Amino acid sequence: MGRAFVYVIVGGGVAAGYAALEFTRKGVSDGELCIISEEPVAPYERPALSKGFLLPEDPTRLPSFHTCVGSNDEILTPKWYKEHGIELLLGTRVRSVDVRRNTLVSSTGETISYNFLIIATGARALKLEEFGVEGSDAENVCYLRDLSDANKLATVIQSNSNGNAVVIGGGYIGMECAASLVINKINVTMVLPGAHCMARLLTPKIATLYEDYYSSKGVKFVKGTVMTSFEFDSDKKVTAVNLKDGTQLPADLVVVGIGILPNTSLFEGQLIIEKGGIKVNSKMQSSDSSVYAIGDVATFPVKLYGEMRRLEHVDSARKSARHAVSAIMEPEKTGDFDYLPCFYSRFFAFSWQFYGDHVGEVVHFGEYEEGKVFGAYWVKEGHLVGTFLEGGSIEEYETISKATEMKPVVTDMEELAREGLRFAQTV
Ligand code: FAD
Ligand code: NDP
Repeated sequence: MGRAFVYVIVGGGVAAGYAALEFTRKGVSDGELCIISEEPVAPYERPALSKGFLLPEDPTRLPSFHTCVGSNDEILTPKWYKEHGIELLLGTRVRSVDVRRNTLVSSTGETISYNFLIIATGARALKLEEFGVEGSDAENVCYLRDLSDANKLATVIQSNSNGNAVVIGGGYIGMECAASLVINKINVTMVLPGAHCMARLLTPKIATLYEDYYSSKGVKFVKGTVMTSFEFDSDKKVTAVNLKDGTQLPADLVVVGIGILPNTSLFEGQLIIEKGGIKVNSKMQSSDSSVYAIGDVATFPVKLYGEMRRLEHVDSARKSARHAVSAIMEPEKTGDFDYLPCFYSRFFAFSWQFYGDHVGEVVHFGEYEEGKVFGAYWVKEGHLVGTFLEGGSIEEYETISKATEMKPVVTDMEELAREGLRFAQTV
């Protein structure tokens, strides 16, 4: 015998927190909703972990970054869940789900049944072992996905002031953590396989500006190679990183950010998986009508891209969560999820936002200097499809978002470059 809920959310991250808020707005009754999370704390804004959480002075700590502080909504503390009659099962892993029977079994052995299940299991960090390198469990090798990773990283940072860090990967984790390490007075070398950081989104021109700034702060870049092994001392602590090109980098600590893998294993063989995620329709509903998926784990139709995509960003987690809850609770009032992809990052004093798609021809605009406003437009088949802006104001970000959503016609690329931000403002 176990408990029964009308709605169960498996996973307690960003998407789960935003879904909970939406459930209360739509009028969920006491005892109808249960959230089951492996983490020991209520849902929180994961982006804080690579930014405020790692500051040397006055670092951000819970409860200040529980969801939904990221979008100026209420802060959902454990007390909030209690007051709203939401069962929050923390430190509890869902061990198995039987989609056909609408039941799941938790790590405590309890069987829980549901009418509707929302999958919000997010993703896990890819490990070096998956690329044939051993040593991830060393006490000075850090990944960054959840609060326990962040606590470990903060501790390792504290005990290695003025030490040497090697950052593996030049993506979001690599860039944001490298900045935080520098702010903590640690010498940083970044190792990235490509020619530039964040190469999948940033153009070489944008990436070069950021890299030059990092270099001015003492960060060294080793590009076009990967690590092959670690050197260890007798305590199994890493002392150096060996690269494929033969270089050896001394290391007091290592931060690894080489991508993620969505947590879909509970549902393999039960639901359709596409592009690594749970395939859902424009209502966030999976191949089983009582199961929905949201956030990093969901592959959904992105109208602007004209294809199914899985996005790994907080804005999509928040909005897909709201949409799924609305589709469940008010199906007749809920249309298709028409999402404009939005990515953002902050490192040092830089802060950028990107909207849309990064395909087609690129036009750069603005003053490409630290502290200035600059950006880029992506134009495909004569239409604006993507916009990047560094250093914009809230109003300017709103402007580029609206302009990109409208997909305006672009006839003259040179004129677009000259007009710069004005183009978006006059669409
Ligand atoms: P998650 O937030 O990862 O939550 C998944 C939850 O499910 C976790 O609590 C996990 O423990 C739990 N879970 C998994 N399996 C089970 C199970 N079997 N049983 C129970 N619980 C389970 N995006 C941006 O757009 N901007 C940023 O600045 C930004 N910064 C980031 C910084 C860091 C350090 C990280 C790691 C990510 C950042 N992101 C950022 C990405 C963003 O945080 C994610 O896109 C977002 O968290 C996805 O939300 P989610 O709810 O789908 O998954
Ligand atoms: P990313 O996918 O952003 O970047 C991975 C990086 O690792 C890339 O530079 C990639 O190079 C490189 N890489 C891939 N394989 C290897 C390898 N075997 N050895 C060395 N480098 C390798 O993932 P992250 O780990 O940086 O971030 C994890 C997740 O967290 C992502 O979902 C991300 O969206 C999210 N996040 C988002 C933030 C934001 O939006 N501001 C901030 C922090 C995290 P290449 O590109 O050439 O393949």
